[in-house]
Amino acid sequence: MSISENLADIVARIALSRKAAIAPAPATRLVAVSKTVAEDGIREALEAGQRLFGENRVQEAMAKFPQLKTDYPDLELHLIGPLQTNKVKDAMALFDVIQTLDRAKLAEALAAERDRTGKSPRLLVQVNTGEEAQKAGVPPRETAALIAHARKLELPVEGLMCIPPADDDAAPHFALLLKLARDNGLEFLSMGMSGDFELAVKFGATHVRVGSAIFGARDYATTT
Ligand SMILES: *Cc1c(COP(=O)(O)O)cnc(C)c1O
Repeated sequence: MSISENLADIVARIALSRKAAIAPAPATRLVAVSKTVAEDGIREALEAGQRLFGENRVQEAMAKFPQLKTDYPDLELHLIGPLQTNKVKDAMALFDVIQTLDRAKLAEALAAERDRTGKSPRLLVQVNTGEEAQKAGVPPRETAALIAHARKLELPVEGLMCIPPADDDAAPHFALLLKLARDNGLEFLSMGMSGDFELAVKFGATHVRVGSAIFGARDYATTT
């Protein structure tokens, strides 16, 4: 299937899952994850009407998206990969939303750059729901404190994001993220990928991040 056919299929499956859900979010948006995808593939998605994209490396996004954003002024770009403090300036200049705020030091760097430029992308806090040592994200029990810290810095924190452990049932992770969002008065929930976005919709996802089901299997050999 082509990228446009895949997109139509995913959009239809999101709509069906929303109908089957007991308490779906008011809206569920599809973030097309275009990491490792060449510009041609992204343009095909844009021509099919997709406007929301996710990238997980600042450098790679800087190589692909400035021109695409000029060509499609309503394109919206989310950072979904870990952010180093030395990339904060570049990330804040390019991304509309940063989904991976996960530590106090990063919140402080974002606030300092916001003070310098007078603007900030919207932010989601990444929660390490599986408490995996190698994975980014704030542990669940430290999430409220990080949100409070970011709010004190007047950062626009609007939601939570998680990547459940690859081998776990995702359901309890999605349920935990939903609970943390409710407890902290946050509107957005970014959860669910190619293999489990329909389940995430049932748990109230406002954003699902789908890559390979749209663009095909990733070829990491072609990335810079
Ligand atoms: C790559 C990636 C995705 C998309 O994964 P697929 O399984 O290809 O849909 C979603 N979220 C994050 C954070 C990613 O890095």
